[in-house]
Amino acid sequence: MRNLKICLDPGHDKGYNPSPCGFGYAEGTKMFFFATMLKAALEKYGIEVVLTRRRVEDNPDLFQRAQYGEGCDVLLSLHSNAVGDNVNESVDYVRVYYPISGKEKELASALTDTIAEVMDTRQAPQYLTRINSNGTADYYGIIRHSATLGVPALILEHSFHTNSRSTKWLMSDANLMRLATAEAKTIASHYGLKMIKEESEVRYNTLADLKAAPNSQHYLPTVEKLIAKGYLNGKGGSGDDLILDFSEDSIRILVTLDRAGAYGE
Ligand SMILES: [Zn+2]
Repeated sequence: MRNLKICLDPGHDKGYNPSPCGFGYAEGTKMFFFATMLKAALEKYGIEVVLTRRRVEDNPDLFQRAQYGEGCDVLLSLHSNAVGDNVNESVDYVRVYYPISGKEKELASALTDTIAEVMDTRQAPQYLTRINSNGTADYYGIIRHSATLGVPALILEHSFHTNSRSTKWLMSDANLMRLATAEAKTIASHYGLKMIKEESEVRYNTLADLKAAPNSQHYLPTVEKLIAKGYLNGKGGSGDDLILDFSEDSIRILVTLDRAGAYGE
């Protein structure tokens, strides 16, 4: 039996759609990070995952993105929403678009509920289709192009980066990890898949623990870069006693993001 294959499409490109609320949020950057986390979470269920952007700077057009999804069971396009260009604190809900063919409507419904629950959004979530003005095809390019290639595509709008609450929420990598875990679980259960790889028990408390690990040469360049940039000193300690409190899985995600250009040179 062939593995389930999913295409993840982090929307836009690096720095695109900065939040008017600030906090350093940009949709095109954060959704790339989130896609990396969701890929890792889906792979634990034996799901094969392809990404439409290999590096955070990549920005293929919508048809190219759909082509990455060819042969996949579903394509998920990852976004956060906006009401105009300004801050709007009152609009805070999840929306998922599914194809007018009705394919994967149930998955759209399940993911809508999961995202709203994990993000704790203020208004009721929605899942819906949107048709073009001629009434002939899907309105959104990624869904329309994917449909012509025989692939159902969903657009997941992770609430609105025009309200401070959701923007701040999406800026937390710990929140994004929880979201990735929850979405993967919902997707796996929709397709009847069980986790093949249990959550890794390996944890590194301090930098010295990581240096002592047999596979540390794969991780140290990234971790040392993040330390030098001041990204990892929130938990206390210094030098080899710097407290990391990392699982092996979270270090792997950091290394993947580093290779994808997320942390610069
Ligand atoms: Zn978007």
